[in-house]
Amino acid sequence: MRFEDIGISKVDKVYLVDRLGSHENLVGTVHVTTTHIIFRAENGSKELWLATGLIASVERGTLTAAGCQLVIRCKHFQVITLLLSRDKSCQDLYETLQRAAKPVSVNVSELLAFENREPVDDARGWKRLDWPAEMARQGVLASQNPKWTQSGINEGFTICDTYPDKLWFPTAASTSVLLGSCKFRSRGRLPVLTYFHRQTEAALCRCAQPLTGFSARCVEDEKLMELVGKANPNSENLLLVDTRPRVNAMVNKVQGKGFEDERNYSNMRFHFFDIENIHVMRASQARLLDAVTKCRDVAEYWKTLESSGWLKHLRAVVECSLFLAESISRGTSCVVHCSDGWDRTSQVVAMCQLLLDPYYRTIHGFQILIEKDWLGFGHKFDDRCGHVGALNDEAGKEISPIFSQWLDCVWQIMQQKPRAFQFNERYLIEIHEHVYSCQFGTFVGNCDKDRRDLNLSKRTKSLWTFMDARHDDYMNPFYSPTAHVALLDLDTRAARFSVWTGMYNRFDGGLQPRERLEDLTMTAMEHVGVLESHVAQLRTRLAELKSQQQQLSTSATTPTNMIDSGMSSATDELKNLSISHPLDPLLNTSTSSSSTSRLLERATSQESGVMDSSLYYPDEALTRYSLKWQPLRGADRCSNPTCRGEFSSTIERRIHCHLCGMIFCRRCLKSTPDERERVCDKCKSD
Ligand SMILES: [Zn+2]
Ligand SMILES: [Zn+2]
Repeated sequence: MRFEDIGISKVDKVYLVDRLGSHENLVGTVHVTTTHIIFRAENGSKELWLATGLIASVERGTLTAAGCQLVIRCKHFQVITLLLSRDKSCQDLYETLQRAAKPVSVNVSELLAFENREPVDDARGWKRLDWPAEMARQGVLASQNPKWTQSGINEGFTICDTYPDKLWFPTAASTSVLLGSCKFRSRGRLPVLTYFHRQTEAALCRCAQPLTGFSARCVEDEKLMELVGKANPNSENLLLVDTRPRVNAMVNKVQGKGFEDERNYSNMRFHFFDIENIHVMRASQARLLDAVTKCRDVAEYWKTLESSGWLKHLRAVVECSLFLAESISRGTSCVVHCSDGWDRTSQVVAMCQLLLDPYYRTIHGFQILIEKDWLGFGHKFDDRCGHVGALNDEAGKEISPIFSQWLDCVWQIMQQKPRAFQFNERYLIEIHEHVYSCQFGTFVGNCDKDRRDLNLSKRTKSLWTFMDARHDDYMNPFYSPTAHVALLDLDTRAARFSVWTGMYNRFDGGLQPRERLEDLTMTAMEHVGVLESHVAQLRTRLAELKSQQQQLSTSATTPTNMIDSGMSSATDELKNLSISHPLDPLLNTSTSSSSTSRLLERATSQESGVMDSSLYYPDEALTRYSLKWQPLRGADRCSNPTCRGEFSSTIERRIHCHLCGMIFCRRCLKSTPDERERVCDKCKSD
């Protein structure tokens, strides 16, 4: 938000209304900055930060005796209700928030991602997808597979500005064939390879609709399709999938676009799928959000949910993806398009690969899939999420939750195949949140060319680097890498689709179970791991005591050597322990190495006297482990007395200190670089 758009920067005596009415309303102050709206409770019990870019809409309620209500709805589905006693300040705040929600114009460089003024060097995140390496992983490398070749035809984005600059085509396709097909496809988006199925050698290609109108043909396009078929040694036949309902495709003919005439393509079978367009999906999600956030009555909830059609749309995407995955695993190559080939096509093509290839179901592989089929092939994140531009009615029509809908489809499949995914739903929700937050440059721009022109990799940080540091938040404890290869036995019956409350209701206290099964399991596993390493340390200590005892009884026969040799060997032993004790990760943390050095000091300063074995090992560290960990249930705040930060939604990870077993927020726990050991400030200084 621009500075001049802030009509009012501070409002006192604002009530934060709890929608479920289970808590007292909190009174506090609202601050407005160019980047955030902040609510601070007077009693210090709550501080709520909301990035202005996340505000989707603001509604003003009527004035009642209690005051006037403002309802702020956010793009990541949080709903915040404020109650203001004075009508004037309510109107001022309303107008300010309106300008935040519907800015007259937004320049890309006003996005949050650019707030960071220091030069950025985040090559690790920005180079997440290495196209040639990914295609080689699939088995498309000249030496392994002479049928497909990397082409430099789009170098500098010359033939298609919404495609990546590296493309893969059948080796037999000549430049004139490619250029001809390019001219015949909407926005130059000609058929290109996105996934090669190593086992069957079938290919998955994607493109935009052809410019057929009622009768136009293109010899080069027909030739390219023939060559795509021929690149598959097992079957020259090709399935062409148009994800649109037939009637929509017919309408496009009037504009000189449309779909292929099967008769002109020698080797092709044609299928329509009834996936609706971005406008239908936008309206559908709005109804879904009405159902999950507004309906208080059960009958009204089901009626609204039914009328949204959301679950039906999810099912259509999954069914089409499953059809593609089945065809490819049977050895038939597929070419997919919708209108422009960047919305529905991205959904089904990416989902198909997720079903076929277990690599894309890992934390890292999922990022590669998003980089390739969403970012690379030009899903218009700026336009679909309303990041930039003037938010007028025209731009409003471009907004649609296509990517969120796909994440929802992924979640639906995770419900059926809980062992197939390395990641949990928190991973999907965090990705979703940052698609809209614009805190990172990853989802800024409509295509690779935009991102290159904006020099994003030098000016903004990548979401992937941020997520790399939080891997353990996203781990699915039930994951079994060998449980599944392809997920072709999905059940697509209506009853298998349900509302993803973990996403849409995650800010509603009381509606969600406060502790999710996967978090409880992860916590139990972590606690077991900590105790096991504790037991291992105790065993080592025991073995050392035994050998010391033996040494002492041996040296007791030669008393003159006792102090000297005993002392120096114990000191050496200590030094070794503090540097590289294999079983003892604890000793590598700064916590225990400082206590180790204290002990070392005491041990070496002791000139003479009787040896006290407790001095030669940081035994205090060994006995500090708590056998009991604070339960997740009821843990709604960080245990650090100076923080006391609230866990406002179920996706905020509640983390245990490995020593005292209390729960802290991420900011208040220090991890060792390998993430194996986490210690709170208090335990660290003790
Ligand atoms: Zn602690
Ligand atoms: Zn904290």
